[in-house]
Amino acid sequence: MTTTLLQPGQIEAAAGSIPELRLPPADLFLMRARRLEQLAEGHAMGAYLRFAAQLARAQQERLNAGPAGELPSPERLAQCFEYLMPPLAPAGLARPAGWRDTARQLAKTVQPLLTAAGQAALQPVVEGADAWLDEQATWLLDIDTQHLNAAVTPVIGAALQVHWTHLARQLDPALVARPEHPNLCPVRGAHPVSSVVRIGGAENGLRYLHCTLCSAEWHVVRAKCSNCDNTRGIAHYHLEGGNRVVDAESCPECQSYLKVIHQDKDPLADPVADDLASLTLDLLMDEVDFVRSGVNWYLMQGHS
Ligand code: FE
Repeated sequence: MTTTLLQPGQIEAAAGSIPELRLPPADLFLMRARRLEQLAEGHAMGAYLRFAAQLARAQQERLNAGPAGELPSPERLAQCFEYLMPPLAPAGLARPAGWRDTARQLAKTVQPLLTAAGQAALQPVVEGADAWLDEQATWLLDIDTQHLNAAVTPVIGAALQVHWTHLARQLDPALVARPEHPNLCPVRGAHPVSSVVRIGGAENGLRYLHCTLCSAEWHVVRAKCSNCDNTRGIAHYHLEGGNRVVDAESCPECQSYLKVIHQDKDPLADPVADDLASLTLDLLMDEVDFVRSGVNWYLMQGHS
């Protein structure tokens, strides 16, 4: 009798039909805010996590209000599906109307929580001309760290997230094609912030990559580098003595890593909140010469 070794993917595929795409839930930002508040307790970055929580609460209010923005036409969506193109890629989509007002509103909401210096740093968003805000958004979406003003990046990013998340929620997952490259979001065509092992229902135990912009999640098997497709020598790093909710999945081929957030270890774990709160792990990965492949707008480098 011979025994066949199953490759990653075959094991999960054997379990039945897998939901390839998860569109963002209606209470996404509220859940994130609660998680950030929970993580802030006794955390060295507590004040910053509480700021991020307030920003997420403000995002939820804007999402509830039904932000402006229209999906591409049905013809365009069908075309994207046929040619395996992400339907909400920023390059092919006019920036949603009202996103600048969302940015100004978010900045005004969180300013009172900040020190005088922090408030002043966000004032350009409140007073900024449309062209200045558009420029910041372009640099953010292009990950242009040469030009980005790092002090305003979280708020600019949060505003864009509200509009893209709202649009993504209106898509039909069956009409979104799987991209050729697993590191790119099928909805917006860019990089994930981190990945999350989900619990419950058909998604139980599956790993999803979480989009920085539209909050959609797409399935990528575990133990496979999402940056270069390699499956050999994948190693997981975690902090000693930690609760193992977050680990870093590293690839020796492309020398990158992506965090894996385990809901199976903590059901409230969130791909953005837990990523931000585990900055220590990023610092340690840097020490062993791995480069982060996930993009988190709270952690962007830039001038400010
Ligand atoms: Fe790789």
